[in-house]
Amino acid sequence: MTNQKPWDRQEQARYMADVAQIMQVRARGEMPLALVRTYGCQQNVADGEKIKGMLEKMGFGFTEEEDQADLILFNTCAVREHAEDRIYGNVGALKNIKRRNPSLIIALCGCMMEQEHVAERIRKSFPFVNLVFGTHVIHRFPQMLREVLVDSHRVFERGDDSEDKTIIEGLPVHRDGNFRAWLTVMYGCDNFCSYCVVPYVRGRERSREPEAIEREFRELVAAGYKEITLLGQNVNSYGKGLENPISFAELLRRLDAVEGDYRIRFMTSHPKDATREMIDVIAGSRHISHHLHLPFQSGNDRVLKEMNRKYDRAKYLELISYCKEKIPDVSLTSDIIVGFPGETYEEFRDTVSLIEEVEFTSLFTFIYSPRVGTVAAKMPDPIPYEEKSRWFSELLQVQEEIAARRCTGMVGNEERVLVEEVNPKTGLLAGRTDGSIIVEFPGDLSLIGQFVNVRVTAARNWILRGEQISPKE
Ligand code: SAH
Ligand code: SF4
Repeated sequence: MTNQKPWDRQEQARYMADVAQIMQVRARGEMPLALVRTYGCQQNVADGEKIKGMLEKMGFGFTEEEDQADLILFNTCAVREHAEDRIYGNVGALKNIKRRNPSLIIALCGCMMEQEHVAERIRKSFPFVNLVFGTHVIHRFPQMLREVLVDSHRVFERGDDSEDKTIIEGLPVHRDGNFRAWLTVMYGCDNFCSYCVVPYVRGRERSREPEAIEREFRELVAAGYKEITLLGQNVNSYGKGLENPISFAELLRRLDAVEGDYRIRFMTSHPKDATREMIDVIAGSRHISHHLHLPFQSGNDRVLKEMNRKYDRAKYLELISYCKEKIPDVSLTSDIIVGFPGETYEEFRDTVSLIEEVEFTSLFTFIYSPRVGTVAAKMPDPIPYEEKSRWFSELLQVQEEIAARRCTGMVGNEERVLVEEVNPKTGLLAGRTDGSIIVEFPGDLSLIGQFVNVRVTAARNWILRGEQISPKE
């Protein structure tokens, strides 16, 4: 059973008051500034917003300038080697900044720091880093920061055996956006796909109580948020460990019933647990986007088995065809891994043929990256990286043609677009359709953060051009 606990506000408040006082002196009466940089997935972004929430309560303001910061915190990602290398490079670059400003506090957190070998490397090779903490102990950030400041020693912390099964409710949040919000519905992952480090760094699967989720959801809608994205590594197993188990489909139904002008997105669905019931709920909903991100990783059954994905190509395609039947305008996206250990070119071609069959809107494609401690990292991997890169380009080319064809097919459509920003190069507004396709159109800056009806007039590769339809049309 998941252990759900409220944040120990009173205890942390004592530490926060100490930190606030010390930082004010250090910043000579000015507001101390923190630079918080988050890498990786939306779950990390959501964690970063909680860390910022706590920093705000400790009197910090925020900056993007390294030279102005009193505290620099990198919230790291461990999913691929490239992500980790980038962090090591960026941390190394902080050495000079610390030399210029010796009182600068440098902190590292997130998935990388939950791994022992990474913490060890930081301990040995980056002596100027003051604080290192993993994903399970975010709620103790004020306490750890105080220890760094008061005791002037380095602090390294990771979750203990119970903390990776616990949910702490009620942490303060500093949301980066004011019309799009992240809402975590569950933490951790129990799937242990053979290539993936996430179950090792994010702990066991645990769901928030639906009441807590609904409360936060209602607050977001009342505050005017227009797009709320529900987050979990495998949202389809939401609710399983709760005292009163409920399905993800049921949670969606409950949230969709909340009145308001908003849309719901969610990620990530896992084909082994995605249900027809969930697809039915989306089809009959008022607020849920007709967009399903359903990663299949590989189109070949032998590779899927080696990946420990627990579904096969036929089951995946069966789910997709049910989805297309119930939601004819559905937009499908997926994650794919190219060059899993032992994958042959013929097996890789099965992935390409699946892409051609399904016709995805867009894909997140990755070349396999070995991760310490995972099963796949010990498998023979004879294909050279250059060869895998060629396969990767081949796949991208096929997908680009599909995306371009799909976009061209949308010319003439009317789409409801949530306007996100202005494209500085073109001066056009840019937003996303319900199916998460980017549309650019001329319009007033005041429309940012609003839903606008747009007629699609042209397609440039995978980006649409359009014009605003006046409300009376
Ligand atoms: N929980 C989600 C995805 C989490 S990680 C799911 O199961 O779909 C996001 C994506 O990164 C994965 O879908 C996978 O495509 C990719 N990924 C994970 N581990 C990887 C590795 N070792 N090498 C390359 N890509 C990887
Ligand atoms: Fe990783 Fe698989 Fe869990 Fe997704 S479901 S986080 S790919 S182990």
